[in-house]
Amino acid sequence: MLTDHFGRSIEYLRLSVTDRCDLRCAYCIPEGFKGFEEPAHWLGFDEIERLLGLFARLGLKRIRLTGGEPLLRRDITGLARRLAALPGIEDISLSTNATQLGRMAADLKAAGVSRLNVSLDSLDPATIARINGRPVLADVLAGLAAASAAGFAPIKLNMVVMEDNAREVDAMVDFCLEQGYVLRLIELMPMGDTARRMGYVDLQPIKRRLQRRFGLVDTLFPGGGPARYLGTADGRFSVGFITPLSQHFCATCNRVRLTVDGQLHLCLGQDARMDFRSLLRSGATDDDLVAAIQQAMALKPERHEFSEQPEKLLRFMSMTGG
Ligand code: SF4
Repeated sequence: MLTDHFGRSIEYLRLSVTDRCDLRCAYCIPEGFKGFEEPAHWLGFDEIERLLGLFARLGLKRIRLTGGEPLLRRDITGLARRLAALPGIEDISLSTNATQLGRMAADLKAAGVSRLNVSLDSLDPATIARINGRPVLADVLAGLAAASAAGFAPIKLNMVVMEDNAREVDAMVDFCLEQGYVLRLIELMPMGDTARRMGYVDLQPIKRRLQRRFGLVDTLFPGGGPARYLGTADGRFSVGFITPLSQHFCATCNRVRLTVDGQLHLCLGQDARMDFRSLLRSGATDDDLVAAIQQAMALKPERHEFSEQPEKLLRFMSMTGG
């Protein structure tokens, strides 16, 4: 097993297959941003398959495809199929803004993607235009319908809660109850100036209010991510809380992130990283890469410092894929 200095088993890798996106969420990529990674620096599918194959040999079990917006990467279903076939890999999931999902859901399912997380910060077109920078509600809802039709269930909806949309949480809860989606409420992390400009909202009071409203109890939910779930006793409704600031989950961290240009980030909230693109393109053997993976685990920080040093991180969420 891959284990870090704090005894945590690392069995989950979030793979960013592009840093580009068709949205401009106000807490992520700023309008007019031009500093995207050079395509020549993007890891190719052979490089990704080779490297993650070695990670799998060392105990990696789960891969999540992220971005930017992963569905913008050409032949993403081909990559999903190749990663799903890697010995040792038990689960391929994907996080998307769903604007392209309508035409791709069935192919993703057939390629071996087992679980979907869809980002949706509001059901109000005006709020969506303000927060996500594009009028995409209809496309997202069409994408969700296509994903359900393709057999994805349950689908998780990720709502980043901030001052601008906090009053819309109940409407999103009602929507998920009605549609059978699993809602996950996420605290804003100070990733880059864009996120720091948006008003952070502590989720604990919202959690207590929903607990009272629905009589929610602690519940478990498959997936291996950081969310803490509450649910109704009859199991009809579950809501997850991802609270990196008000109640962090670093003690049980099980993940690392690989960026589109082959940088392995050991922690979302820190700058510790290792450059695998240079290794892959300078003739490193499999043994060299395995040694580098194990060295990288030793670099993994204990936790983030989002509260202590909110100014620390310059990169946007889209650069590491959340
Ligand atoms: S902030 Fe870093 S240590 Fe904490 S859960 Fe995220 S990746 Fe793990």
